[in-house]
Amino acid sequence: MQHRSFIIAAGLCMLLLTGCSAPSKTESTDLFAMDTYMTLKVTAPDAEGLLQQASDRIKGLEDTLSVTRPDSDISKVNAANGAPVTVQPDTMNVLQKAMQIGKVSGGALDITLYPVLKAWGFTTHDNHVPTPAELDALLPNVDYTQVQLSDDTVQIPADAQIDLGALAKGYTSDAVMDIFREGGAQSAIISLGGNVQAIGSRPDGTPWQVAVVDPFAPSENLCILAVEDRAVITSGNYERYFTDEDGNTWWHILDPATGYPADNGLVSVTVVGTEGLYCDALSTALFVEGTEQAKAHWQKAQDFEMLLVTSDGTILLTEGLEDCFTNLSSMPVEVIPRA
Ligand code: AMP
Ligand code: MG
Repeated sequence: MQHRSFIIAAGLCMLLLTGCSAPSKTESTDLFAMDTYMTLKVTAPDAEGLLQQASDRIKGLEDTLSVTRPDSDISKVNAANGAPVTVQPDTMNVLQKAMQIGKVSGGALDITLYPVLKAWGFTTHDNHVPTPAELDALLPNVDYTQVQLSDDTVQIPADAQIDLGALAKGYTSDAVMDIFREGGAQSAIISLGGNVQAIGSRPDGTPWQVAVVDPFAPSENLCILAVEDRAVITSGNYERYFTDEDGNTWWHILDPATGYPADNGLVSVTVVGTEGLYCDALSTALFVEGTEQAKAHWQKAQDFEMLLVTSDGTILLTEGLEDCFTNLSSMPVEVIPRA
């Protein structure tokens, strides 16, 4: 009798093991959202369902976070004339990170730069160089410390306006990773306009090979980073820029101290870490901080890795990336040691 029940129990276990775990499939999709091309690829039992959920989540976050959507939380805050506005938890999560990185970067990341970005036309693809008088009029309202957050409300001065363009994509890639993980994916990679985030390794067990663009020749790759379970997020002066009639080039990452494009020795910054939101906020902040401050920032924080490309054509790599880095360029490489 005991023998028979053992056989039945063993049979049930086999059924559970084989019948309940459907085989994984790899599926991918492309979409355009948040003003950028996105590619999602996932290996999971219901890969197609997860891609659909992820696409819906991305569009939902765009509706909530985008400064160019008139009904977004951000547009409501910007139109509130100084009154507090109740926002969704997603918006609050991004704002809290923006405040935190604003502080640790000494104001290099400042989400209240929006009126200045508009003056340069970077948000509307209608670029022109603002006059010094225009910038002087706008800069006094640029100060992220004036943003007041409570549990679910945001309040900014009547003359201030905010924009989460520097970190919303990082939050979005974290949100997609959450959907994939909850859906049982052990392998996935997404690229939101060059911001890459991965779950696990490639389906064959080898690390993901993430290419970093050559900022001096954006159609070429500078190097490869071999990573698992990481976000690899780049801010570069080649992503959005224009050249004026005098031949000067101006790019979309501005120095809040001057209102002009940040020109502190760097042409691109790639941040590697476990959280997309943190890496995205940092990539923009470190670009503004410039070479020396970025090094000091990394040595103090020690919870991310970075690859800097300097304006004079050197690749600076933090120690933790040394083993996963393959140089495809002829640029010299220097390793930044831990202090
Ligand atoms: P990213 O590509 O992540 O570096 O984000 C750059 C975008 O963030 C720009 O296109 C602007 O919308 C916005 N931005 C530019 N400079 C700053 C800054 N210093 N602080 C916060 N946001 C910025
Ligand atoms: Mg960023």
